[in-house]
Amino acid sequence: MSVGIITSDIFKKHDTSEATLTGKYNHPESPQRIESIFLHLGNKEIWKKSEHILTRSITMEELYKVHTPEYVNSVKQFCQNGGGRIDEDTVTSPESYATALIAAGSILQGVDAVMTNQLKKVFCLIRPPGHHALPDQTMGFCLFSNLSLGATYAMSKYNVERILVLDWDAHHGNGTEKIFYNNKNVLTISWHQSPFWPFSGKYTDIGEGQGQGYNINIPIPEAFTDEIFIETFDQIVIPAARQFKPQLIMIASGYDAHHSDPLAGLNLTNQAYQFLSKRAMALAEELCEGKIIATLEGGYNLDALVNGVDSTLNFMHHPDANIKNDYEREKDDNKRQIKTLIDSIIKIQPLLK
Ligand SMILES: [Zn+2]
Repeated sequence: MSVGIITSDIFKKHDTSEATLTGKYNHPESPQRIESIFLHLGNKEIWKKSEHILTRSITMEELYKVHTPEYVNSVKQFCQNGGGRIDEDTVTSPESYATALIAAGSILQGVDAVMTNQLKKVFCLIRPPGHHALPDQTMGFCLFSNLSLGATYAMSKYNVERILVLDWDAHHGNGTEKIFYNNKNVLTISWHQSPFWPFSGKYTDIGEGQGQGYNINIPIPEAFTDEIFIETFDQIVIPAARQFKPQLIMIASGYDAHHSDPLAGLNLTNQAYQFLSKRAMALAEELCEGKIIATLEGGYNLDALVNGVDSTLNFMHHPDANIKNDYEREKDDNKRQIKTLIDSIIKIQPLLK
């Protein structure tokens, strides 16, 4: 068995609903996201034949490698005092702190499974998500930077020296970028709608100091579709990854670039997630013995979320499965914009020269 899933009913305990004067407000980052995945994928063959790995809480020592003790304590206190809106977008409940510790710990379990060769690929279906969380600040529905904590753990416990992060969530992975901005051991690549919240992620932000050349941003104009993700994967991600030679690939796997997502304004079809997942698996096979850890980020249309997770999990099990070559193409004018963007990125990224 080579594919694992890490998930749990525990992740439904992070309750983001709010009582308002007009009734209950259901936050888009809701427990129903995990519930839908269980409901629609739980009986499928790819779910049943995956190894199900136990979750665990991250320890304080592991958490402090990325987040400050003061910050961790402030989140703990806030939740213990009843929770509520901890920043303008992020809602917590009394159980959110403990749940977030388990979400982060799940990635570490995934790292253990993959780095000890117990499994080749692991999908962490967890919440709260993590890619916006900063070392000392909650942001965008995120409390702790799950993926960064996993990458840091892989580097310290298993001496991994090169980790490739692919973030195909519709929002810029600003937290992950910030945490590794000066670090040449982690090549972070983020596709994101731009301009769009959190309004970072310019293509000219290529890392700093030792990390210069190890951060690649691929800003995508609103309403663009599958073709720009697939073209940039082929012309930017693959050559950069071949230069970088990762020992592990981690995916910040959000599904909110789908055209039906209520928050973002990109127009991907599910076909795009099939293409992206298939390419990521092939890249892992070519460069790092198939080692991949994916972690759930955004995705707020429940059908699109379920179909996206299904696609990624399917290609984890069947990396050679065929895909119909009928993804959404762009109009000629957009094709020119795609070419300009790719040329601009290639020009300034050292790994692509
Ligand atoms: Zn997102």
